[in-house]
Amino acid sequence: MKYSIFSLLRNSFSGHKNWQPAWRNPDPKPEYDIIIVGGGGHGLATAYYLAKEHGLKNIAVLEKSWLGSGNIGRNTTIIRSNYLLPGNNPFYELSMKLWEGLEQDFNFNAMVSQRGVLNLCHTDAQRDAFARRGNGMRIDGVDAELLDAHAVREMYPYFDFENPRFPIKGGLLQRRGGTVRHDAVAWGFARGADMRGVDVIQGCEVQGIDIENGKVVGVQTSRGAIKCKKLALCAAGHSSEVASMAGLKLPIESHVLQAFVSEGLKPFIDGVVTFGAGHFYVSQSDKGGLVFGGDLDGYNSYARRGNLPMVEHVVEAGVAMIPALSRIRTLRSWGGVMDMSMDGSPIIDKTSVHGLYLNAGWCYGGFKATPASGFCYAHLIAKDEPHEVATAYRLDRFRRGLVLDEKGQGATPNLH
Ligand SMILES: Cc1cc2nc3c(=O)[nH]c(=O)nc-3n(C[C@H](O)[C@H](O)[C@H](O)COP(=O)(O)OP(=O)(O)OC[C@H]3O[C@@H](n4cnc5c(N)ncnc54)[C@H](O)[C@@H]3O)c2cc1C
Repeated sequence: MKYSIFSLLRNSFSGHKNWQPAWRNPDPKPEYDIIIVGGGGHGLATAYYLAKEHGLKNIAVLEKSWLGSGNIGRNTTIIRSNYLLPGNNPFYELSMKLWEGLEQDFNFNAMVSQRGVLNLCHTDAQRDAFARRGNGMRIDGVDAELLDAHAVREMYPYFDFENPRFPIKGGLLQRRGGTVRHDAVAWGFARGADMRGVDVIQGCEVQGIDIENGKVVGVQTSRGAIKCKKLALCAAGHSSEVASMAGLKLPIESHVLQAFVSEGLKPFIDGVVTFGAGHFYVSQSDKGGLVFGGDLDGYNSYARRGNLPMVEHVVEAGVAMIPALSRIRTLRSWGGVMDMSMDGSPIIDKTSVHGLYLNAGWCYGGFKATPASGFCYAHLIAKDEPHEVATAYRLDRFRRGLVLDEKGQGATPNLH
């Protein structure tokens, strides 16, 4: 069913009794050409683009839980393409362009809101680094503006500009950055893939990978064995567990990242703002809650909840930026399991097992990448060669020393 003003009118005249489910709930078939493990944003986007761009239909997405239960429904919804390195920028800019047309493309309202992403700087050295990054972005055709403190003050007069420890000196603004309603992204891609014949199967956990003569032939699942010609891993925080079923040890650690939502407030922050002297990022949802987050909790975990010291750390940074935040109450918090790669950049590549593909290492920046990740992964799976904007995301880059260390932190996944 295509959503439009006409379908809305038609259904309103029939008492809204004839809406169809957004996607089917099929049982697994004994065999598929392609199986995708993980019904998060990246897995569903991959299925969507495999069907739409490459005309492939005999595909299943196997999700152990329900759609949207993973990081796709747990993130702070920020999208941007304000990267520095040439290996990253064209990829994230492709993602931004796909976001810009996504709702028309998959006929679903994902509330894409290009409200601007502003990174604050607090020292002269940080402003120089932002100028360098902004220039890098503009060389790659990405919009970037370097603002002085006066320009930031005009946008957000209630920030603590004269904070003795962290005075605000300016910021790097990407006006095309913003937010997207995260679970609608999962639903939109699921519906779009289902409409094109993909089986999206919830409650189906992959428990083993069948390999014969170095080639993938199928998977063992909680709903029985399923054969396949190609197997695409897309399990985000559980990538290491799933890859180990094929005997692979990944350069990835799993860490927990928390997110927070405040009580509802009147319109207060109309863009996304990040504090540059700690790690704090905030936007305001359509319901009025401030949506904010900070650093990883700092230890390996598969738990989807964090600890109090990080709550204190995040709120401290927030109050240093906006003192008035100390008067609001936090309503909800949760955690997600992040697939932290050693250099902070993702992996979209084939593996040493024939027919086994890997999409992982998204750290805590994979939401913004969802469309491009699906687009490029689908290209790799369909054509067996990397898409031109994803050539840097090779699995063997760690062995070959060609790391893509955007932050310059070294091989310390918890710092990326
Ligand atoms: C608190 C938080 C804030 C974040 N904020 C941002 C942000 O503002 N901007 C941004 O760009 N990124 C952000 N991220 C990161 C982003 O959400 C992730 O990088 C991205 O969602 C990961 O890809 P995914 O959507 O496919 O993951 P997921 O939704 O986690 O999908 C993976 C799926 O695989 C399934 N799975 C695992 N094992 C198996 C198995 N054995 N069999 C079958 N299925 C399996 C899981 O159940 C899960 O549904 C944030 C993450 C968190 C947790």
